[in-house]
Amino acid sequence: MALETKLEEAHELDKKDTLSRFRESFHIPKHKDGSDSIYFCGNSLGLQPKQTKEFLEQELNDWAGLGVEGHFHAQNPWMPYHEFLSKKMAEIVGAQQHEVVVMNTLTTNLHLMMVSFYRPEGRRRKILIEGDAFPSDRYAVASQIKFHGGDPATDLITWQPRPGNNTPDMDDLKTILEQQGDQIALIMVGAVNYYTGQFFDLKSITELGHSYGIMVGFDCAHGAGNVDLRLHESGADFAVWCTYKYLNSGPGSLGGCFVHERHADRPELPRFTGWWGHNKETRFKMRDDFEPMYGAEGWQLSNPPILSMAAIRASLDLFSQAGFKALREKSVQLTAYLEFLLQQMQGDRISIITPSDPNWRGCQLSLAVKDADRSLFDAITAKGVIADWREPDVIRIAPVPLYNSFADCWKFVDILSSEM
Ligand SMILES: *Cc1c(COP(=O)(O)O)cnc(C)c1O
Repeated sequence: MALETKLEEAHELDKKDTLSRFRESFHIPKHKDGSDSIYFCGNSLGLQPKQTKEFLEQELNDWAGLGVEGHFHAQNPWMPYHEFLSKKMAEIVGAQQHEVVVMNTLTTNLHLMMVSFYRPEGRRRKILIEGDAFPSDRYAVASQIKFHGGDPATDLITWQPRPGNNTPDMDDLKTILEQQGDQIALIMVGAVNYYTGQFFDLKSITELGHSYGIMVGFDCAHGAGNVDLRLHESGADFAVWCTYKYLNSGPGSLGGCFVHERHADRPELPRFTGWWGHNKETRFKMRDDFEPMYGAEGWQLSNPPILSMAAIRASLDLFSQAGFKALREKSVQLTAYLEFLLQQMQGDRISIITPSDPNWRGCQLSLAVKDADRSLFDAITAKGVIADWREPDVIRIAPVPLYNSFADCWKFVDILSSEM
C-alpha cells in the first residue's frame, strides 16, 4: 500500500524546521545497509550527543592531571559540580533552581522521597498509582507499604481506565477520592505514562489530592525533556526522573529529583541522610549533627559520579541551545505528522492508544496491533526501525524533536504499511 503523501513533502518540512541542524549533533545508529536507522526509541535510551566525549575527556584529563586536587582546581571543579546542572535542569522541568537536584538513580530517588512523603498514620495508609504503572514504580511503592507494616493487597490502589478505554479519566480519580480520600496517604503517578504515552494533568491531580490532605508525587521518567512539566506550578510535593531517556545522558545515568519549595526548609521532616545533604559550609568539619541543606539538595547522600554528570552537562547544553519551548513546539508538530501518516494507512490492524489531544501527550505514540505477535515488530526492525515492543500487543514509537526528522516519520510509516 502506497502512502498518499510523498517523501518530498517530509523533506520540505525538514527544510523549514529551524531545529533540524541539531540532528548533526548526535550519533545516529546505522542500519546494516549503512543508512541511518529510524531511531524511535529515545523514550527508552536517548542517543549520544557527539560532544559527550569531549565533556567526559575533560574530566578524565583533570583527574589524570590533578588527582584529588580536581575537587577544587579542575576546569569544572568537582566539589560544586552538581550545581552546574541544576539551573538548566530546573528550566526543563519548570522548577526553581533550589527545588531540583541531580543525584542517584530514579528508583532510589523515589524511595528517598517516599521516606519523607509517605508517612502512613491511623486510617491513612494507602498509596494510589495509575493503572499500567511502570513495574519499578509498583515494586517501589509496594515495598514501602510493606516496610511500614501494611499489605499492598489492600493498601495499594490503582486508578484504572474504564472498560473499553485506554487511559484513566479524571472523573474516576474524583470518585476514588470521594470514597477513600481519607485513607490515602500518597498519590504517585507517572507524569507521562510509559505504556500509553498519556500526559496527566499534574496540577489538577495535585490540587485534588491536596484537598483531601494527600501528598502528591510524580514519576517524570517519560516527561522530563519531553513535555512541559511545570513542576513548581503543579504544586506537587515531589517528583523524580531519569536522564537517560529524553535527556540523552547515557545508559544508567543519574536521576533528577524535585522537592517543592514548601518543603525546602523543613529539617524536622523524616529523611534518610548522607554527608552530601549536609550544610556545605560545615560539611567538612565532620560534625556529629546533621543539618540539611536548603531545598532538594538536602536529600543528597553521596558525593556524585562526575563522569555521569559530565554526560548530563553535554546533553543539557544542547537543550539550552535549542530552547525547550521551541523543542516542544517542534515535537507537537512532528508527532501530529506521524499520527496523520498513520491515519492514512488503510485497515484496522493498528490503533493509536495515546491521547489524540497534543496537550495530553508527549512525542510518543503507542500503537496497539490487532491479533499481534511480535512478527510485525520483527519485520520493521529488520528494515531499520529501532522501536520498542511491549507485551502483549503494543509498539511504542517516539519521534524526538532534537534528532528525529519528518523524513524519519515518513519512512517509518512507509515501512510499516509495506510490512502489513
Ligand atoms: C524508565 C523508568 C524507570 C526506570 O527506573 P531506574 O531506577 O532508572 O532503573 C522507572 N519508572 C518509570 C516510570 C520509568 O519510565
